[in-house]
Amino acid sequence: MKVNGLNKWINEWYEQHEEELNEYMHDVWAHPELGLFTKHAAEASYAFATTHGFPDAIISRAGEGVKTNTENPNAVIAEYGSGKPVIGIVGELDALPGLGNGDVPGKAPIAGPGHGCGHNLIAGAAMGAACALRYAMEKEGIKGTLRLVEAPGEEVGRGKALLAKDGVFSDMDLAIMWHPGPNEFSAEPQPGLCILAGSFEFRGKSAHAAGAPWAGRSALDAVQLMNMGCEFLREHVTKDCLLHYQITNGGGAPNIVPDYASVKYFCRAANNEHVKDLYERVVKCGEGAAHMTDTEFEPKLIFIIPYFYQNEPLYKYLHDISMEIPDVEYTEEDYEFARKLIEDYTGAATDKSNEELLPASKKTYEGMQERSTCTDAADMSYFCPTAHIHGGGSAAGSPGHHWTITACSGSPIGQKAAVRAGKVLAEGAFEAFGNQALIDECWAFQKTLNIPSYDEVYSIEIKDE
Ligand SMILES: [Zn+2]
Ligand SMILES: [Zn+2]
Repeated sequence: MKVNGLNKWINEWYEQHEEELNEYMHDVWAHPELGLFTKHAAEASYAFATTHGFPDAIISRAGEGVKTNTENPNAVIAEYGSGKPVIGIVGELDALPGLGNGDVPGKAPIAGPGHGCGHNLIAGAAMGAACALRYAMEKEGIKGTLRLVEAPGEEVGRGKALLAKDGVFSDMDLAIMWHPGPNEFSAEPQPGLCILAGSFEFRGKSAHAAGAPWAGRSALDAVQLMNMGCEFLREHVTKDCLLHYQITNGGGAPNIVPDYASVKYFCRAANNEHVKDLYERVVKCGEGAAHMTDTEFEPKLIFIIPYFYQNEPLYKYLHDISMEIPDVEYTEEDYEFARKLIEDYTGAATDKSNEELLPASKKTYEGMQERSTCTDAADMSYFCPTAHIHGGGSAAGSPGHHWTITACSGSPIGQKAAVRAGKVLAEGAFEAFGNQALIDECWAFQKTLNIPSYDEVYSIEIKDE
């Protein structure tokens, strides 16, 4: 019997625990931490999971083998049940630098990082889904393995790659997750871009900039010439390519010829081949700049986000599940919050209706959507059919990676969206456990994608910054 489009036990779990779950999401929000350093969030997740049916949950230091309670915890993995199928419900824990803001309807900066991508809500959607599903699995004697993964570093592009190295996704039959956003909730696939991110260092010779400039070899000159080369490169790459850079060290003072300077690049493109080609040509620009300035050049590939192979049948399945689950019911206060926030951000009154500010979920399924940014959920798609459903949880009109998202992610607007999205994940996974035909269909589709091996994609050596 279903209640509110959910197995009755899943529904019951949410009825009993929604408030606690909101507190957990707010706790993660109030302690924003950068990717791979998600200590508080991991501990809060561990505490929630262990008190809600996952006594064997572990805190893992991703990438160094799964360990318990290490000094620098950063991911949480919890499991229930045994045998096949193995279904993964995946969350995120990390925040973004410089995006701290109050949970108020306006700009109220808080120094330091903030949940400007709403990952505390992803954590809550996955946590709620896993706890509710575990409860239902026990009540109904469901066979199979549920694995909750709270991943530590989507924003630094390495969280899931490190977990993949630990084998966390290797035996999964399906992996599902949700990401919030200032658009309507949708379970349609959305392709992203691939990234190869590089940190490029130049070493020259220091000198007095006025006294003996001829004795110096400026590492900053090299950085600038590399950037100049890349600006010219832009014209001669395919249209899907994007390049962004940040000078991470430009020397100490104008009157010192800097013997060290560095620049970080994100090379993005629509597929693994284009992005590799782009990265190699960026490296050539660096080599050329080193030649011109008589400096030494050290390129380091710091992370990869590979092509995300979207499993369309899995999305369609989750869409159908989501259609049965009632939409979020926003209150007048929620609409007022969203309105004030957008007005504060734009500096003008908005003529948007309540429904435009906090839209209902998308009711139609139109298949593959326009390209979005990128996510390391891509990594999971090399191991099993993966769906990354998205949207809801912040006011329409908010830009991505923004303080308006931080504000909403600490408010009931974000929490309500995360609860509903979690219900979609929980019910989707619950029904999938008893639906081998669905799993077979997703795998049959997966085989048509001709996915290269993960090792092949990661054949370039990744180094720490
Ligand atoms: Zn983000
Ligand atoms: Zn994100």
